[in-house]
Amino acid sequence: MRKGKKLYEGKAKIIYATTDKNLVIQYFKDDATAFNNQKKSVIEGKGVLNNRISEHILSNLSQIGIKNHLVKRLNMREQVVKLVEIIPIEFIVRNVASGSITKRLSIEDGTILKEPLIEYCLKDDKLGDPLISEEHIYAFEWAEKDEIKKIKKMILRINDFMVGMFRGVNIRLIDFKLEFGRLKSDGKSEVILADEISPDTCRLWDSVTDKKLDKDRFRKGLGDLIPAYSEVARRLGILHEQTNVSVVNITKLSSVKSKRK
Ligand code: 5GP
Repeated sequence: MRKGKKLYEGKAKIIYATTDKNLVIQYFKDDATAFNNQKKSVIEGKGVLNNRISEHILSNLSQIGIKNHLVKRLNMREQVVKLVEIIPIEFIVRNVASGSITKRLSIEDGTILKEPLIEYCLKDDKLGDPLISEEHIYAFEWAEKDEIKKIKKMILRINDFMVGMFRGVNIRLIDFKLEFGRLKSDGKSEVILADEISPDTCRLWDSVTDKKLDKDRFRKGLGDLIPAYSEVARRLGILHEQTNVSVVNITKLSSVKSKRK
């Protein structure tokens, strides 16, 4: 399998074709954007960390039966993933109120929700990914009722698993974003988890100090994003304990063996 032409470039990733029509390569960039592209920067090493963290989470999810697009990590910045037709919806899962919901509904930051809340946003940068209802999804035929039913079931399992996984390493999973795609074969279509799960797409707070270990460090200008993402990787067992968090040493990640069983 060889790498082919660029098919799509997003804010944090690039998708390349391969010589296998069913597989594509997902490349993790160092670009960081926030507030609908109004704030931009390049943070050296971010793509490497997200590649490893996302590989770790998606391969663990696969082991508990959550079908997803990951085939294998290729190198420091690239993964081979199954080609899917992305459903144009961002599925936001919240355990604790933070970010946009606190402003939209005037809820205090850090309020624990009685049960996980799923929100839907239309994936459209020009419109700023607006919040939509489930009825909008059916009215505009962005997804079928049966697909959303299956996705919701998967989301609750993913959330349960991830809350537990992070709790085990003293991190609170506040919220996160998921994307799903349609895997097509033999005229059939199946929804599977796609995109990435990383500190770019989750809010992760240290259980003891509430320190932010996610992209809010960039959004809020808190700095030290690489040490925070490295800390997440280290706690998940992806980075060796003694590995220095400096950008130069990010290259050491490539020599750390995958924890995948
Ligand atoms: P909020 O709605 O508070 O902005 O985001 C809720 C959660 O979803 C946060 O963990 C945030 O990182 C994630 N999220 C929402 N939209 C996006 C997006 O367009 N890109 C990324 N990387 N994460 C998002």
